[in-house]
Amino acid sequence: MDIRTVGVIGAGTMGNGIAHVFAKNGYNVVLVDVEQRFIDRGLQTIGKNLEREVAKNKLTSEQRDLALGRITGTVDRKRLADSDFVVEAASERFEIKAELFRDLDTICRPEVLFSSNTSSISITKLAAVTGRPDKVIGMHFFNPVPVMKLVEVIRGLATSNETFAAVKALAEKLEKTPVEVNDAPGFVSNRVLMPLLNEAMYAVMEGVATAEAVDEVFKLGMAHPMGPLTLADFIGLDVCLDIMRVMQSGLGDPKYRPCPLLIKMVDAGWLGRKSGRGFYQY
Ligand code: NAD
Repeated sequence: MDIRTVGVIGAGTMGNGIAHVFAKNGYNVVLVDVEQRFIDRGLQTIGKNLEREVAKNKLTSEQRDLALGRITGTVDRKRLADSDFVVEAASERFEIKAELFRDLDTICRPEVLFSSNTSSISITKLAAVTGRPDKVIGMHFFNPVPVMKLVEVIRGLATSNETFAAVKALAEKLEKTPVEVNDAPGFVSNRVLMPLLNEAMYAVMEGVATAEAVDEVFKLGMAHPMGPLTLADFIGLDVCLDIMRVMQSGLGDPKYRPCPLLIKMVDAGWLGRKSGRGFYQY
């Protein structure tokens, strides 16, 4: 499989990081979102993050310019027709992703592999809306994508060994470390992480401790680089809520019920770092 052009869908927190990493490693990227302002914001973030790498002498200014020059932003998803591989990083809603996968199936060549960066949604179910379920896989990057080494590679029920091998090799080309995981709500990372963040929110809601105190306990007591509430703000509280809901319905265990404080904060538009306010002010 010769991959030169990669379609990245969604220019948000994850999509812009994924586009950054592919472009830096020599791939052409077509970055798709629903509105031009989201693309502009994504491209601006990529520019800023590449600049940071230049400042740290990890990249030359020439490499930065080449990487930026490889990315084309568009609101027209038909431009994905020439992509050799697709990573979907749109919002964490099954209906949104299913509509995208159904349409991509008609836009892209039949041999093109589709991956989703979903945090929790069933790869098997997404694959089933396409006519190529053997070519659909989870490629779950971590935030911030240019920095974090892990890629959870998730096999749906129908994912073929060839697809798995190709995506594993692709992750390695991006200088990431792929870890194989089977399809289950939240996979491994979020199944274990999100209940921790959710429980930390309950501790704040019930007045057990302030957000600052909860975070301090985890930083100093468990050597976490950031506390659970700082991390939740960083991930996005709306994303955390969506993931808890997918695990609650998919696993059917009440221990995955989202904390009422999380629901209330998302209702208020307090989405964490990206909206300027979450458990902390930014
Ligand atoms: P985000 O809200 O920052 O960005 C999502 C983007 O998708 C938005 O710009 C939105 O306009 C766009 N979008 C929505 N519907 C679209 C469509 N039909 N076509 C094109 N673009 C569309 O969200 P995010 O944090 O980047 O999350 C994206 C995906 O990555 C989700 O599935 C999420 O679960 C997953 N993820 C998030 C994190 C994290 O830390 N935030 C980590 C790993 C995986």
